[in-house]
Amino acid sequence: MDSEDKLIRLKSKILDIWNDSVFTHESSIKWFEEFQNILDDFFEIQKAKYFIYDADTFLQLSWNHSFTKKLNAVKWSEIEKFFYDKDYVDVQTLQVEGSSDLEVALLLRDTELQPLGLILMESTEKWKEFSQTPQLNEFLKTITKLVKTIRKSVYLTQQENQYRNLFNVTKMFNSTLDIGQILEGTLHSVQKAFPNFKSKLILSNDQDRKTSVPYKLFDYTTERNATVEAYVSGELTTELAQDLGVRLLNIPIVGKQGIYGILQISAPLDYLFSIRQKDFAVLLAAAAGNALENAKLYIQSHRLVSDLQLINETSHKLNMNLSLDEMVNFLRDQLVKFFQPEHVGFVFIEKDEYKISPASTELFHTMDGQLYIQYVSNHFKTEKDSLFIADFNRLTDLKYEYRSIMAIPLKEQSNITGFSLIMHKEPYFFSFDNYKLMQSLIQHSSLAISNSTLRNKLQKMVDRDHLTNLFARNYLDRFVEKAMKMDDQGVFILMDIDNFKRINDTYGHQIGDEILIQIARVIQGMIENKGISARWGGEELALYFSNMSLEQGIEMGTQLLKAIPQNTNPSVTVSMGISSWRRQEDLSFNNLFHYADTVLYKAKNSGKNKLCVYKASHSC
Ligand code: GH3
Ligand code: MG
Ligand code: MG
Repeated sequence: MDSEDKLIRLKSKILDIWNDSVFTHESSIKWFEEFQNILDDFFEIQKAKYFIYDADTFLQLSWNHSFTKKLNAVKWSEIEKFFYDKDYVDVQTLQVEGSSDLEVALLLRDTELQPLGLILMESTEKWKEFSQTPQLNEFLKTITKLVKTIRKSVYLTQQENQYRNLFNVTKMFNSTLDIGQILEGTLHSVQKAFPNFKSKLILSNDQDRKTSVPYKLFDYTTERNATVEAYVSGELTTELAQDLGVRLLNIPIVGKQGIYGILQISAPLDYLFSIRQKDFAVLLAAAAGNALENAKLYIQSHRLVSDLQLINETSHKLNMNLSLDEMVNFLRDQLVKFFQPEHVGFVFIEKDEYKISPASTELFHTMDGQLYIQYVSNHFKTEKDSLFIADFNRLTDLKYEYRSIMAIPLKEQSNITGFSLIMHKEPYFFSFDNYKLMQSLIQHSSLAISNSTLRNKLQKMVDRDHLTNLFARNYLDRFVEKAMKMDDQGVFILMDIDNFKRINDTYGHQIGDEILIQIARVIQGMIENKGISARWGGEELALYFSNMSLEQGIEMGTQLLKAIPQNTNPSVTVSMGISSWRRQEDLSFNNLFHYADTVLYKAKNSGKNKLCVYKASHSC
């Protein structure tokens, strides 16, 4: 068979491959297997390898395309010189690893002389003979055409698959504002494109991202250099991570306003990613970045509205003249609702002492809670600024249970009068936006809280008699009226110092005042928690005992009658009128007072230093 004949038959065989292989999934591999049969038939060549050209490198063709290995890869720049004026050289000159049993290298390249692929094969007598003929060139041209077409068809099929994948995921991205769905879609899509590799999402901290999709939190301090570089530059990076035994591809997840994280794909160390694969990953990450950004903006716009609502609602409520307790309870509920902390505490600083508000959640009433209060208190001893701790365990050698902490000072003018703190076990639980919002909320409430504290102090001042520190008459009035609505019985005692005018006249007004203070002490010491006592006016005092029977009241009065002269200096006596009420009698406070007053008058008029009880018979 002359070489021209051979060429014609070769061409026809190659055409068969062409017809069989175009636009099938396996064409990138299958064509070469068939081509090897041709080499055998025509030239008795049995050993041949094909190298695909991609990213300036020739990679040996293997069945599992996604595992195309770097093994025996040949850089074009290293062998280019040998193909300067020919496409057919001796394998030995190329020094390709693992190909010592092959002799001939055929370079296939396009019309611009760009490489398309490389065939390495053994040389046989038949081949040597054929390669000397002018038909060699035509043969090479035919294979080149075949390879070019196959490449194009493979490229198109793969591109189509990728675009279909990208199209589907982008379509999904456009139809959702659910961050979890977007992340899931991204992972799914990358796993579909690289089924044999592991992929991972490394995302920047963002509070809006409440999702069950697994991802790692981006951390500048512990992330690998190439990962940080991709995150900072917004450009794809690759790394040969020898320690992990993998090759890492880091694709930044980029939106229009920022970078949200990294999509990381791990391949075997000897794997090379093709340009097309990288392009795909970049497109996918960009689509994910845009989708995440949209979702974030959407959530943010909603949040802005709800933030304003929160501040508005809180200001409104706090302006309603609530009591301090009501106010702090309300604030605690707002903090819980908006930031979902595991614990909320309020601490008030009074004369350098730290008082934990009862509104605080249970942890702060235990020893465990004191650790955190101590830390925050120390902070506010030297700093006026709020505290934002993303991970408490990073600040200390100790391991704390609650790792996310935010504390905002309560201020009265520029003085710190206390603070509010919220905590969560999970590190990085609160976002910076949360921090800003809590700051604004507490600052808005600070004035109302300090007003309420002042009002409380003022009320205490009004409720107490200045000289004796007994309650004021007003307070006792309100107390008894309330008690008569709630309780079943009670005792009321009116007490008047005997001949007090004379004491004043004899010893002076100041000593008179002292005696009033002494009597107040005796009363407070004796009645303890059983009742309350008030300065009724001048040298007259009143006592009230909730849920006490008349008999017990008389006992109490008798003891006081004895104790007062013994504990005053100069010694004075007192007279008392006692009245009592029981639920079934339907008495008003006015009646009760009037009865006691009546019998007090009786005591005065019957010798003083005695106690008269109001009964139907007014007995003394
Ligand atoms: P009686 O036994 O009838 O109650 O005689 P009395 O002198 O106590 O009664 P009277 O009502 O005539 O006088 C009450 C006196 O109590 C008049 C006033 O000087 C004195 N007094 C009232 N309030 C105070 C006070 O805050 N301090 C002092 N030192 N004296 C007071
Ligand atoms: Mg009097
Ligand atoms: Mg008197």
